[in-house]
Amino acid sequence: MRLTIIGCSGSFPGPDSPASCYLLEADGFRLLLDLGSGAIGALQRHVGLYDIDAVCLSHLHADHCLDLCAYYVARTFHPDGPRPRIPVYAPGGTASRMAQAYGLAEPPGMTEAFEFATLAPGTRQIGPFQVTTAHMNHPVETFGYRLEHGGRSIAYSADTGESAALTGLARDADLLVCEASLLDGPDLPADLHLTARQAAQHAAQAGAGQLVLTHLVPWNDEARTLEEASGVPLDGPVSLAASGRVIDLG
Ligand SMILES: [Zn+2]
Repeated sequence: MRLTIIGCSGSFPGPDSPASCYLLEADGFRLLLDLGSGAIGALQRHVGLYDIDAVCLSHLHADHCLDLCAYYVARTFHPDGPRPRIPVYAPGGTASRMAQAYGLAEPPGMTEAFEFATLAPGTRQIGPFQVTTAHMNHPVETFGYRLEHGGRSIAYSADTGESAALTGLARDADLLVCEASLLDGPDLPADLHLTARQAAQHAAQAGAGQLVLTHLVPWNDEARTLEEASGVPLDGPVSLAASGRVIDLG
């Protein structure tokens, strides 16, 4: 199972990274986890535009979903004709939200390009991956993910405040990709995002093997993000996400 970080900038694209997007590959199957602002551009450095087999969206904030509009254009209006539909697993209401975002009438909206499947908490098979989703602690319906293949596992927090469900998804995972949007300070917003220290605490409680901090907001000092997470004793290494970084697991 290979993870390529396409975009890891939090809340809006940064100078060196698009917003959230992760490419997972196993057995020749390619799954995109989130498709945030700007991701389609950087994605093409790593994989053919039409080599994606499925898209999974965590939630409908623009920095996690809006480049589905760009991908709709790329798949629909190619000079050689439209590309076959691929599945998009996403919260309820995604098909209409995306149609509205692009100003498309429904039907068909984007349904001739994408086969929308509504997520619910639980486990399903997507290609070679066993995919478990759970509700996170965020102002809109948001799914965290656990993807398993060949005895290895990756958990992804999406956007969340403190969450026992996240700890459950990350239980004994080889890798936790966890948001760290906030730095320690007074008057932090509740039920929205995690600090780097809270991200590390979730990794510690879950017994995750490796922690990668992501959703790095451009106004934060990255060195301080890493330093605050490093103050929590962990079983494995902690590092910062970066666009283009590849992590091979087994
Ligand atoms: Zn969000």
